This record gives sequence, C-alpha cells and structure tokens, in this order.
Amino acid sequence: MKKLKAEIPLLTCFFWYLCPLKMEKKPAFSFDNLETAFAHLSDDDLKKTQALFRLMGYPALVKMGIWLSKMSFSMGLPLEKVIKDTVFRQFCGGEHIEACKPTVDRLARFGVKSILDYSVEGNKGESSFAAAKEEILQTIQAAQANENLPFAVFKASGIVDTGLLTQAQAKEPLSEEMQDSLSMGKDRFMTICEAAFQAQVRLMVDGEESWFQGVIDQWVREAMRQFNKENALVFNTYQLYRKDMLRHLKDAHHDAVARGYFLGAKLVRGAYMEKEREMAAAKGYPDPIHSNKSDTDQDYDRALQFCINNKQRISLVSGSHNEMSNTVLAELIDLHGLSRADERVYFSQLYGMSDPISFNLAKAGFNVVKYLPYGPVKEVLPYLARRAEENSGISGQTGRELKLIKQEIRRRKSLPEFPTIA
Ligand SMILES: Cc1cc2nc3c(=O)[nH]c(=O)nc-3n(C[C@H](O)[C@H](O)[C@H](O)COP(=O)(O)OP(=O)(O)OC[C@H]3O[C@@H](n4cnc5c(N)ncnc54)[C@H](O)[C@@H]3O)c2cc1C
Repeated sequence: MKKLKAEIPLLTCFFWYLCPLKMEKKPAFSFDNLETAFAHLSDDDLKKTQALFRLMGYPALVKMGIWLSKMSFSMGLPLEKVIKDTVFRQFCGGEHIEACKPTVDRLARFGVKSILDYSVEGNKGESSFAAAKEEILQTIQAAQANENLPFAVFKASGIVDTGLLTQAQAKEPLSEEMQDSLSMGKDRFMTICEAAFQAQVRLMVDGEESWFQGVIDQWVREAMRQFNKENALVFNTYQLYRKDMLRHLKDAHHDAVARGYFLGAKLVRGAYMEKEREMAAAKGYPDPIHSNKSDTDQDYDRALQFCINNKQRISLVSGSHNEMSNTVLAELIDLHGLSRADERVYFSQLYGMSDPISFNLAKAGFNVVKYLPYGPVKEVLPYLARRAEENSGISGQTGRELKLIKQEIRRRKSLPEFPTIA
C-alpha cells in the first residue's frame, strides 16, 4: 500500500500523458458566429441571398418557377439571364471550369476548398457520354494543378446509360449491342478512376438510385482494389437512408482489410427518397428506405462513428447540412485526438447552402470542401430545380440560415462606419 502511495504521482503523470484532455487546446466553435459564417459575402451578396431564400419560402412559387424555366427554354424565351442572376448565381460556380476560378479563390481565402462538379444531367448516347468523360477528366487535371481543389467527383449516370445499368443489375438478358455499350461505359468509368490515380487526385463517385447502384458499387470496388493500395484515392458514396447501407459500409471495410487497400467513404443521407419509395411500391418490393427520419439520422451518426473508429483504414467525407451530424463528427475528431487538419477526414456541403456550418468549421481548423456545380445554364436546370425544391418552404436548416442572414445584415448595419481619409 505504502509503495502504491509513493507511486501515485508517477501514475498520475503517466495517465496525464495519455489523457486526451491534455492535448493541445482546440479552439471552440459555434455555427452561429455570424461574422465568420458570412465573411465571404459582400453586403450586396447577402441581400441577394436573403431575397432569394425568402422567395424560395413559397413552395407554390418555386414549383411555378421551375415549370416556367423549363417552358421558356423549350420555347426559346430569353429567361436565361434571370436564372443566371438568381438561382444559378447562388448555387453554381459558372458555366465552365475557368469561370469557377474566382469562386474557388474566394472560398479558399476563408479556408474552404472546392470540388468542381460538372452538373449536366440526363446525358443520352455514346457521344454525350464520351463528352462528359472528357469534361470529368478536365476537372481531374484542374484539381491536380490547384491545392484548393482537393477532390474530383462524378456521377456514373453521366457516362453510361442508366437503363442498361438497371437491366444489368436485374440480371436481364442483354443483346450483344447492349453488352458492348455497357462495357464501353465501364471502360469510361475505369479510365476516369485511372486518371485520378495517375494525377493522385482523390475522386468521389456519387451515389444514385438503388435499382442500378449495385453495378456502380461493383465497379467502384474494383477501382478501389486497384488504385487505393497506398492511400484512399477512389471514394464510394454510402446513402444512410437505405436500411442496408450500414452493413454495406462494414462489408466494404471488411473487403479493404482482407485485400489490403484503403477505403474511401463519402457518407450522405440520400437524395432520392420519394423516387425510391415510388419504385418500391410500383414494383412491389419492400421499401429500401428507413421508415422514419430518426432511423436515418441514427444510422448516419453510427456510420460516422464506424469510420472514425477505423480511421487507419478509412478516409471519410461527410456530406451533410445537418448541424447535429456535423457536431458529432467534430466531436469525434477531437475525442480521438486527431488533428483537425487530418487529411483523412473532410466535411462537405453544397455551394450556396449551409455557409454558417462550412465557414465556422473551417475557421475552427477542420477540413471543409464545398461541391461547386458548374455547366451551361440550360443544362444545369435539373440540378437547380432540386436545390430550389430542397430549400423551399423555409423550414429546418434553410429557415435557420435565413434568420442568420437577417441578423448578419442587421449586425453590419450597426457597425460604426470608418471615417474616410481625405
Ligand atoms: C457534399 C454533398 C454531397 C452529396 N452527394 C450525394 C450523393 O452522392 N448521393 C445522394 O443521394 N445524395 C447526395 N447528397 C444529398 C444528401 O443525400 C441529402 O439529400 C442532403 O444533403 C440532405 O441531408 P442532410 O444530411 O444534409 O440533412 P437533413 O436535412 O438532416 O436530412 C434530410 C435527409 O434525411 C432523409 N430523410 C428525410 N425524411 C426522411 C424520412 N421520413 N425517412 C427516412 N429518411 C428521411 C433524406 O435522405 C433527406 O434527404 C449530397 C449532399 C452533400 C452536402
């Protein structure tokens, strides 16, 4: 007993040395720091964002706007300028890669990096798939040349026919022509992954609808086995609104361990809930989506925990605008004693949304990267329509953001004006 007493100071020193609490003091952060949240926006930008978010508060107006824009484009009416000055300006970086540069530079000045996201959807036919592949290769080259573009990203549906993928997943017989077309699609997919590997640019493959995602998952796994031997370069997407997705993530980790490669995992909740439910009802199979939001939330946070617990093998990108999930991840990083700048963990949001989350995390030293969509105005309309719908109704996160924008406008007005020097 006496001996133990004598050793208490030594033991205390030992535990203090191991204790995570004594690690370097990390700056606290809050998503409500207005100055940080909107420092990248001028007074004029802020007012424009406020006006747009207010308009989007009326779901009927949003629906009518989407319908009008589609009509006017098909009838050749000159609505392009209005769209460009409003929703396009809010949610897109420009019409081509070069045009995005000022936005990439501006975000980088506040510690937020970008991912060029070629957001043209609904491609059909070999020539448009080939053109999309070329554009994606250019985003990889741009990322290789610019440290503020740490990732590239693409959707498989932009380079291969989704009908074919669906038939392949359902194991329906394919004609010779269809098989050729599918294998050309896979070649394009692998070419993109290999280009990312050659350039050493991390590459994310977006998650899509479950009825063809299975084929994409197989291709991504092949690419990871080939290109992720030294580090996580190719990332798959895990949509945690699916009941089976946590298990898929664990299986993928198991495969990575068994075959000795690194797993790149982008976590999202999932964007196609209504479509998934409609398809399941139409085809008569069980709904693959969690029956309620809290089950999705719970799986998302469990997936974050799983990735951080297995950080030696998994690199993680958390794609979410949910404050709670972003807080959970920030706490996990600190709790595990990881550096906030550890390249294995990134927070990610979409450009034009959730700035209070992105910029406050970046200010506190975490890695943050924003998807920066680009493409010709007419071609990115489906993407813009989804963003407008997602933000319509001014409830939840958008409502909160609008409130913060109003407060920031008021705060700036209350600041004393600097006397001008004659
Ligand atoms: C950087 C980034 C990349 C993304 N990439 C992809 C991608 O590759 N593929 C993709 O599908 N999506 C992608 N998304 C979109 C994402 O899946 C979500 O739709 C969106 O971000 C909203 O989820 P949240 O976590 O931000 O916030 P929240 O507002 O907390 O969650 C909303 C989400 O919860 C789920 N949900 C809502 N209601 C219910 C319910 N009743 N039952 C079950 N679940 C419910 C839905 O998934 C819904 O989208 C991406 C998002 C970001 C920010």
